[in-house]
Amino acid sequence: MGILEVKNVGKRFGGLQALSDINLDIAENSVHAIIGPNGAGKSTLLNCLIGKLIPDTGSVMFEGQSVLGRKPYEINQMGISRVFQTPEIFGDLTVLENMMIPIFAKRDGIFRMHAFEHADNETGILKQAEELLESLGLADDRHQHAAWMSRGNKRRLEIGMCLAQEPRLVLLDEPTAGMARADTNATIDLLKQIKEERDITIVIIEHDMHVVFSLADRITVLAQGSPLVEDTPEKIKGHPKVREAYLGEAA
Ligand code: ADP
Ligand code: MG
Repeated sequence: MGILEVKNVGKRFGGLQALSDINLDIAENSVHAIIGPNGAGKSTLLNCLIGKLIPDTGSVMFEGQSVLGRKPYEINQMGISRVFQTPEIFGDLTVLENMMIPIFAKRDGIFRMHAFEHADNETGILKQAEELLESLGLADDRHQHAAWMSRGNKRRLEIGMCLAQEPRLVLLDEPTAGMARADTNATIDLLKQIKEERDITIVIIEHDMHVVFSLADRITVLAQGSPLVEDTPEKIKGHPKVREAYLGEAA
């Protein structure tokens, strides 16, 4: 049994069957990619995995516990963190201040501004934030306003903020969308580094096949709300159904 088990998940929006018969069994410490054309149901599925949407049918279990109907902070407390398509960082705060937020949140359960203002070495939070920035290669930028960072570094910071919550499962929705190739490659390297250094399971939704084939242990291809095929990257690359439904020239 995997760390994340999705059974018979279905979701309908009015007349549209956005998801049907989704079954996933995601192994601990693996990278599982979900790919498929626009409108295939990828984001809907991700929202079901983080409790943001409640499916009409089926179950989603993380470490044997249901995620359905839980609030975002409860999902975080269970050990699940997510990164959305647009980086969610505070542009007016420095890189270091941004990094301290999830560390506070992890400790207190909720972010308190007064605690934040009096943060110092004693609390250990500053030290922890600085260490994380160091491991991300962002230490030199720590007193910069986050708004001034490159798109790639914003993403790097956001992934770091996600890791600061010490999750066992990270969900990423198109983390390289709109990035230049150099930033995409840097993000791939960062995710590879995370995979090597931490006991962590990653579910990644991605358009960019280069990213998927560089990182994934297994790939599920969605088409019109249903899984078309699930296999290793090697098998997916040459799969005739996948070529037909999605990859086209990219394969
Ligand atoms: P993807 O992320 O693969 O591009 P989505 O999961 O966003 O696809 O959408 C799947 C289908 O469900 C699309 O046809 C989309 O228009 C529809 N859809 C998504 N969210 C909603 C919603 N809240 N209400 C109605 N239709 C939706
Ligand atoms: Mg989407």
